[in-house]
Amino acid sequence: MRFLTFVRASDQVPRLGLLHGGDRVQDLREQAQRSGRWLPFDPGDMISLIEAGQAGLDAVRELAGAAEGGSLPLGSLRILAPIPRPRKNIFCVGWNYLEHFEEGERIRQSGQELPSHPVFFSKTPTAVSGPHDPIPFDPAVSEKIDWEVELAVVIGAAGKNIREAQAFNHIFGYTVVNDVSARDLQRQHGGQWLKGKSLDGHCPMGPCVVTRDEVDPNNLRVLTRVNGVVKQDSNTKHLYFKIPRLLAELSLGMTLEPGDVISTGTPQGVGFARTPPEFLKPGDLLETEIEGIGTLKNRVQGA
Ligand code: ZN
Repeated sequence: MRFLTFVRASDQVPRLGLLHGGDRVQDLREQAQRSGRWLPFDPGDMISLIEAGQAGLDAVRELAGAAEGGSLPLGSLRILAPIPRPRKNIFCVGWNYLEHFEEGERIRQSGQELPSHPVFFSKTPTAVSGPHDPIPFDPAVSEKIDWEVELAVVIGAAGKNIREAQAFNHIFGYTVVNDVSARDLQRQHGGQWLKGKSLDGHCPMGPCVVTRDEVDPNNLRVLTRVNGVVKQDSNTKHLYFKIPRLLAELSLGMTLEPGDVISTGTPQGVGFARTPPEFLKPGDLLETEIEGIGTLKNRVQGA
């Protein structure tokens, strides 16, 4: 199943939608009201659906099967991030594609080896924005805004000390994140990246969450285009630390909870490592696509 969070122009109330055939959306809130069915989750809150576990998915399946009334055309809706305001920071992974590590190392010249454990950092919840929202550009804040297409894992069942063999049982599904990065700020703060990764609107997410049974996360093409020109084009099969390893390491002594988002790292082709370096500027259209999940389309907007 593919879930998204959207609002209708008439009331701006967040609603969960079930996506059909790529372009039709069933409004779960409306259908629950119309059918008088009780749902074991809040039909406007993705985390509530995730927390309901299998009972939530079963209820959606029943509701969809008994649907009364039509679905809505996707293009008529304002789509929000699937989890518009995560409860905690987005977990991110640095250097998880070899070629991206190498392109960065050509710039850094640090003599660093690829780490033997994943490098984790985070983005604040306020950075999260919708799949079609603008990316703010203010030269007084940063002039070196860069792109990073990433497959993101959405945690389902809570877990601590998750074993690799059990990792997929803790995953609700997958979504697309662009780990937009202010490279000048990222370099300014003593080698830790929180600030440069967390500007408002610098974490477009969506357009939907695809449940884990629908895609093979180990073989998905990942792409970034800027103004239609392909900048990143790789595949999640090249992830250096695979998803089970990431979950095992991150959950070691630290509880992962339903609705937590883990962005798995970006492949080669980012702007700062290009010759000459390239950064986003007002008016640019950034498209972030993952096969089987969807495409984010975000325009850079001057202040
Ligand atoms: Zn990243």
